[in-house]
Amino acid sequence: MQCPSLIKMRQIIIKKNIGTMLTTIPEPILKKKARKVTDFGKNLQFLIDEMIAVMRYGQGTGIAAPQVGESLRLIVVEHEDKLYVMGNPEITQSSIETEVNVEGCLSIPNIGANVERSTAVTVKGQDRNGKPIKIKVKGRLARIFQHEVDHINGILIVERAIDIWQIKEEI
Ligand code: ZN
Repeated sequence: MQCPSLIKMRQIIIKKNIGTMLTTIPEPILKKKARKVTDFGKNLQFLIDEMIAVMRYGQGTGIAAPQVGESLRLIVVEHEDKLYVMGNPEITQSSIETEVNVEGCLSIPNIGANVERSTAVTVKGQDRNGKPIKIKVKGRLARIFQHEVDHINGILIVERAIDIWQIKEEI
């Protein structure tokens, strides 16, 4: 048995650690082109789980490995209760039609930006076990994939933004 207050304290400590795993600007790793994933073994599995935890902790809808300090071509996306894990993602097709909409980034706290993106994309890559996958996505999901693929190429929303504003921190 554990004392309830001790459990709560542990949860707070875990939460704090997860928060500190997040890489934020101006960390140079965020501006680097990430390396290809070649080994889908145990270490990568740990990294994927860590990325999922950090993304959810930050209430994000996507995260890329450089955002947890690993310069690897690996992304996680979560949209409408569906989780996507992709190694070596590549956008092979983008719609000519574009749309401007709001984005935020876990690595740039309290910033909102309007970014122009293709409304639909085809993404080719590998699943968490290294098996080749190809998906066609549109709308918000297509936007998230484009944002995360930008991350592994060292591109941040501040470079793509049509306009940027500061979000007041909630207390
Ligand atoms: Zn981001």
